[in-house]
Amino acid sequence: MELNQYNQTQRKIEAITIVVYLALLGYTLYLLFPFITQNPFITITAIIAGMILADLATGIIHWAGDTWGTPTWPIVGNALIRPFREHHTNQKAITQHDFIETNGTNSIFSLPFILLALWFHHTYQSSVANTLTLTFLSTAIFGFGTNQFHKWAHMENPPKFIELLQKSKIILPKNHHTIHHTTPFEHHYAITNGWTNSITKKIHFYRVLEWIITKTTGAIPRKSDYEIIQSTKQA
Ligand SMILES: [Zn+2]
Ligand SMILES: [Zn+2]
Repeated sequence: MELNQYNQTQRKIEAITIVVYLALLGYTLYLLFPFITQNPFITITAIIAGMILADLATGIIHWAGDTWGTPTWPIVGNALIRPFREHHTNQKAITQHDFIETNGTNSIFSLPFILLALWFHHTYQSSVANTLTLTFLSTAIFGFGTNQFHKWAHMENPPKFIELLQKSKIILPKNHHTIHHTTPFEHHYAITNGWTNSITKKIHFYRVLEWIITKTTGAIPRKSDYEIIQSTKQA
């Protein structure tokens, strides 16, 4: 399969998005700082809720990239589908990516959560609104960090502090992520910390989504993978 390369235009867009993301993150944290210092219990609860939401969101995005379309699709093909498909054929390549290539795409996906947090903060003035703002902010922070966590999960020797975070399951543990790269390659899509993987597998969450999409659009999940396997058999 001929894949498009990671190009300079894409890299520039990602660099700009990372700067915008970090600026908005700093601004939102500044706005919420008084609430955070006065409500530590609510803050911790919102952070954990945001971590669960980020894990589920990245799982759904990863599942979509693995399951539908091809890397030649416009925009999402090169930005989303290509990295996931390449990652399956060369798992270690991610460990060579620099900061922008590792985190660029996730900064784009995390921006809506920061904007949602800011909107909540400016529209509603209450503890509930601040709790939701913090939850979305936590989702944005852990969503942004997800591909970095994924990269560390593939590194032979990540920094000791990172290993500690992996072992305490705060970020994606190595052995947990190995399950995604093991046959049948059809679950454990969540890569923030993996907290949602057991439950989504148990309730067949991704298979139900696939069934709904196939029923409504006629699209076949993992069709391009199937076609590659068939062409290899015929060759
Ligand atoms: Zn995958
Ligand atoms: Zn991986």
